[in-house]
Amino acid sequence: MRINTNYLQLGGRYLFAEIARQVSAYKSEHPEADIIRLGIGDVTRPLPDAAIRAMHRAVDEYADTKTFRGYGPEQGYDFLIDAIIAHDFAPRGISLDRDEVFVSDGAKSDTGNIGDILAPDNIVGITDPVYPVYVDTNIMAGRKLCYIPCHAANDFTGDIPTEHLDIIYLCYPNNPTGAVITREKLSAWVDYALRERAVILYDAAYEAFIQDDALPHSIYEIEGAKQCAIEFRSFSKTAGFTGVRCGYTVIPKELKADDGTSVNALWNRRQCSKFNGASYISQRGAEAVYTPEGQQQVRVTIDYYMSNAAFIRTSLADMGLTVYGGQHSPYIWVSTPDGEDSWHFFHRLLTDANVVVTPGEGFGTHGEGYVRITAFGTADDSRAAMGRIKAIL
Ligand code: PLP
Repeated sequence: MRINTNYLQLGGRYLFAEIARQVSAYKSEHPEADIIRLGIGDVTRPLPDAAIRAMHRAVDEYADTKTFRGYGPEQGYDFLIDAIIAHDFAPRGISLDRDEVFVSDGAKSDTGNIGDILAPDNIVGITDPVYPVYVDTNIMAGRKLCYIPCHAANDFTGDIPTEHLDIIYLCYPNNPTGAVITREKLSAWVDYALRERAVILYDAAYEAFIQDDALPHSIYEIEGAKQCAIEFRSFSKTAGFTGVRCGYTVIPKELKADDGTSVNALWNRRQCSKFNGASYISQRGAEAVYTPEGQQQVRVTIDYYMSNAAFIRTSLADMGLTVYGGQHSPYIWVSTPDGEDSWHFFHRLLTDANVVVTPGEGFGTHGEGYVRITAFGTADDSRAAMGRIKAIL
C-alpha cells in the first residue's frame, strides 16, 4: 500500500499537541511549578443544569426496552433540528427547512470533512492567522491554499481578494484574533462569493459571545448568502459541550456547484455513508440548551467568561500592551512586547510566569508578533495569570 503523501506536507505536530508537549516537558523538569493554562480554548464551567437533567433522562430511556434507541437519523433528530431552526435562525428572519440542518459531533469534524465533497483542484482562501483545522485538512486533500492576511489595518477581516478563489473560510467571532465582522464587510464577502461562484465556509462556533445585536450572528442574515455559504455551529463553546460533542452544519438547498449539483444532497449522501449520527444523549442535552432555563444558564456562563475577557483585556492594556478581541469573543489577541517573537514570548511566559498562552505564529505567519489568551479559564486563574504577567514585564 501507499499512503496519502499530502499528509507528509503537514507540519510535525498539530499546534495544540505541540504546546502540550512543551508544557509537559517543562512540568517534568519543574514538578513544583503551578502552571496556569490559558492556551487551549477549552471551557472550564460545568454544563447548564437543563442539559445535565435532559441527558440523565436520555440515559434512563436507554435502560428500558420500550424507550431504548439504537441508531438515529444520520442527519440528527427532528426534535433538535426544530429547536435549532426556531431559536438560532427564525428570530433573525432566516427560514430553513429541516433537511438543511445536519446535526453532528461538532464543528471540528464538519469543517474538516466538508472538503470530502469539494474537488481537490479548488483554490482555497484562508484567512491568516487561522484555526489550524482548515489549513491541515486542505493540505491533506492536496488543495492549493491562498492566504488572506488579517491584521489590525483590516480589522482582522481580510481584504476582498482581487484574484479568483473557489472556497473561502471565514470565522467570526474569530479564533484566534477575537475579531468580529460587521454586516457591511460580510456583505462584501458574500458579493465576492456570488460574483466568483465561490463558496464561503462560515464558522460561527463563537456566535453566542456576540454582545452587540447589530453584528451578524449568521451569514444567512446577509442577502444572497444561501446561494454561496455553508455555516458551521457548535454547542462546545456556547454550552460547554467540548467533551459531550454536538454541533451542526447548515447547507441551504439553494447552494449549487458550478455544474448544478446540489451541495446539500451531496453532503447528505456523504453523511449517510460515513457518519452514524451524534449520540442521542448529546442531542437531548443540546435540545435542552434552548429551553428558557437552558438559555438563562448559558447566558450566566457566557457572562462569566466575558467578564474574564474584560479583566484580561484591561489588565494587559494597563501593562502597556496592545490588545484586540475579547469584547464579542472569548479570545484576546495581544501584541508581544517590543515585537518579541511569539514562540519566544510563549516560552518566557511559561518559564518565568508559569502561564501558558498560545503563540500567534502557530495560527499562521500573520500571527507572528502576537499571542492568544483565552478567557475560558476560571476567574481566579485569569486574575492570578495577569498578576504574574505584570510581575515579569
Ligand atoms: N471552529 C473553531 C473556530 C474553533 O475554535 C473550534 C474549537 O476550538 C471548533 C470549530 C471546534 O468545535 P467543536 O468542539 O464543535 O468540534
